[in-house]
Amino acid sequence: MILAGKTLRLVFVCTTLLICFSAFAGAQTDIAAMSGAGQDIKKIEIADGIYQFMTMRDSYVRQLNSVVIVNQDDVLVFDTNTRPSSARLILVEIRKITNKPVKFVVNSHWHPDHWSGNEVYAEAFPGVTILATERTRQIMMNVANEFPVRFQSELKTMQASFDKETASGKQDDGTALTAERRNRDDANLRDYKTFMEESINLHRVFPNATYVDHLTLYRGAREFRFMSVTGDAEATTVLYLPKEKILITGDVVSYPIPYISQPPTRHIETLKALAQLDVDVIIPGHGPAFHDKNFLDLEMQLLETIVKGVHDSLQKGMITLDDVQKAVTAENLREQFTHNDPDLETRFRSRVQALTKLEVREARGGQDFPQ
Ligand SMILES: [Zn+2]
Repeated sequence: MILAGKTLRLVFVCTTLLICFSAFAGAQTDIAAMSGAGQDIKKIEIADGIYQFMTMRDSYVRQLNSVVIVNQDDVLVFDTNTRPSSARLILVEIRKITNKPVKFVVNSHWHPDHWSGNEVYAEAFPGVTILATERTRQIMMNVANEFPVRFQSELKTMQASFDKETASGKQDDGTALTAERRNRDDANLRDYKTFMEESINLHRVFPNATYVDHLTLYRGAREFRFMSVTGDAEATTVLYLPKEKILITGDVVSYPIPYISQPPTRHIETLKALAQLDVDVIIPGHGPAFHDKNFLDLEMQLLETIVKGVHDSLQKGMITLDDVQKAVTAENLREQFTHNDPDLETRFRSRVQALTKLEVREARGGQDFPQ
């Protein structure tokens, strides 16, 4: 994803989400105490020598995955977190697992939750190969300077919202501010400040190896197939391990509410292609590892529902975004994503609206409705 929610409400972790998570997860270890500051990381062994490290909340995103693969002579790390401090905790765990060096880091795409810990591996393993698509590297270099500025602006918005609710004793929706809610918002704000400080102080390390379409890497008995696809960002790298039947998707697949920011039909094409692969485990960019293709199919259904709904609406004669967004709700799929959790309901509705806007643009030949 590109930016965390605009209000404090969107930053909290719901119990339903945690219940969903435990239903999916295999054997796991909690690395640090519960915290919203990127320290609460689950280690899940997916297969022999393959570990999913899921950072539950880091003030920017939730359930963020970094995948560690131990090879015959070295280690490969796929995606490096939002906060360098999270990547540092994961590196401590890597060193408990093996004394082999990290020789390869892969960045799935340019969104800051997938490559901001590169410096940790570059410092610890000088000469480490950091791989991404050529287009991803180019975008990273173009946008890196924006991140701290945007996070500072987000912090100001959060602080203003917090000050307003504490002064008025009411939340944004007019309901009374409870002590519990106030404490939670206060904790979120403090966590966000530490995130912003980290983002200002971090040293951006860009990929030093790139590819365009696909690349195969052989390390010991393992074969790594990297493919450039359109996911939540253009030229996203997905990694397929054919022998282990494991697919690591970056944000081409993301849970619980999919991140989508590219033309929807291109994202659908990618999901269709990935669905053809012989896979036992799918590790998404965010969320638990899946041992079937059900969530990938559900994400595809959501996109297809929106595309069809938008085209039908336009062909019926709708000529404003507002009208199309009222008509296209993907209501039939809502519960499968939200499980009736109120926080997820809010996120689902706003994601469907954003997705509808994207598809209107795509359906109109790349143009939004005239204002
Ligand atoms: Zn992400």
